[in-house]
Amino acid sequence: METIKVYNPSTGNLIDECANLSEQEVKIAVDLTVNAFPSWSKKLAAERSVLLRQWHDLIKADKEVFAELLTAENGKCLSESRGEIDYGLGFIEWYAEEAKRLYGDTIPTHDPNGAVIVTKNPIGPTAAITPWNFPFMMITRKIATALAAGCTMIIKPAEDTPLTAIKLLAYARKAGIPEGVFELVTGDPKMIGQIFTADARIRKISFTGSTQIGKLLAEQSAATLKKLTMELGGNAPFIIFDDANIENAVKGLVSAKLRNSGQVCISPNRIYVQQTCYDQVIALLKASVSQIRVDDGLQEEFVVGPLINQKAIDKVQALISTTVKQGAKVIYGGKVHAKGGLFYEPTILTELTDDMDINQTEIFGPVCAVYSFDNEEEVIARANHTEYGLVAYAYTESLGRAFRLSQRIESGMVILNSGSVGTASVPFGGIKESGYGREGSYYGIEEYVEVKYTLFSGLKLQ
Ligand code: ADP
Repeated sequence: METIKVYNPSTGNLIDECANLSEQEVKIAVDLTVNAFPSWSKKLAAERSVLLRQWHDLIKADKEVFAELLTAENGKCLSESRGEIDYGLGFIEWYAEEAKRLYGDTIPTHDPNGAVIVTKNPIGPTAAITPWNFPFMMITRKIATALAAGCTMIIKPAEDTPLTAIKLLAYARKAGIPEGVFELVTGDPKMIGQIFTADARIRKISFTGSTQIGKLLAEQSAATLKKLTMELGGNAPFIIFDDANIENAVKGLVSAKLRNSGQVCISPNRIYVQQTCYDQVIALLKASVSQIRVDDGLQEEFVVGPLINQKAIDKVQALISTTVKQGAKVIYGGKVHAKGGLFYEPTILTELTDDMDINQTEIFGPVCAVYSFDNEEEVIARANHTEYGLVAYAYTESLGRAFRLSQRIESGMVILNSGSVGTASVPFGGIKESGYGREGSYYGIEEYVEVKYTLFSGLKLQ
């Protein structure tokens, strides 16, 4: 069977290839994951913690090797790859600790001769499917949580970026994480998705990717009633009020927007700027974006790398031409970069209105789509006018307004006066069609356990 070929999006060169597994091979890997569960779940939390910690330390010692591979297969620049690795290692470290703190409860008894305990038990063998935009962090954040809780996990990385995942698996083995506890398969996503979802022994699936595939997996999982964690699409508003520190707001916007060339589910998708500071924001934004270099990611400084593949370029290009036809103005960029290939110019679109297609489309490219607004009430309504609800950003110096935004914005995460969302200690996730379930923090591990109530009656206490 043909292998899956992995190309460097900056150069178009073949980096490596990986197995395109048959149905039978995938099923064997699922069996390994299932068979490893009894012994892994019985290990002491402290033992699991030590193995996770060893995995963490081995990766950390080879951080540069991982960073170069990540940049090669994904295209993001080295400084971003290093940042992603730190972020991803944070999850292993966090859950190595959290493994030891999966506390249950005792509840005042309702039975004069009884006692009530509540324990948290690993849900069982689990599976995960991950996207290409964070090839390192997406894997560690799912695997570390599952393993810490006492679950085993089989993972299918994205076809564009399986190499980082394969290296992570090799390091897990070196660290002593046994076969079956962390399994990995590569091959036809539809076939693998069907095997994962149809297998009643797999008790949970964690998926990060498009809303469309998330819904399909949820449908497929209904027959075996699997627990699901769904991290799906986003349509993040980024609101700048005239009472904000405007320079900080633009800095936060540019770093959030151009990270990974805008190919991030939490990337600012609709930038709402209050009319009273609109000209100032646009001038600063243009000045800031024009200073950013577009280049192959193997640079020390921050550069905007290529998009992941030709399909991504075509999608961004088509979206921009539709938006312009609908009346928007391109005030910066707007086409494939002079370097050619998969490089796209950072772009600023203005004079946008909410009835344009781009308003309800996840852009997934380095495109700033700027709208103007008049007042708080109006912008909150407009921000909430989307089927998604992953994250919202806002800049304001008003405490009351910040609190109102925190309360009224419909999303799983509200980020005020910062462009940075993630770290291992916070619950990452969305509402509405951005999905359900959380990753990171102590909430994340709850997704991998079942709560069990036991009544010990007849204790002859009276
Ligand atoms: P994107 O558009 O960002 O690639 P997708 O949702 O298509 O988002 O992909 C995210 C992950 O889902 C990838 O690992 C991809 O291979 C996988 N995937 C795509 N189609 C299916 C499917 N039918 N069943 C299971 N997984 C799928």
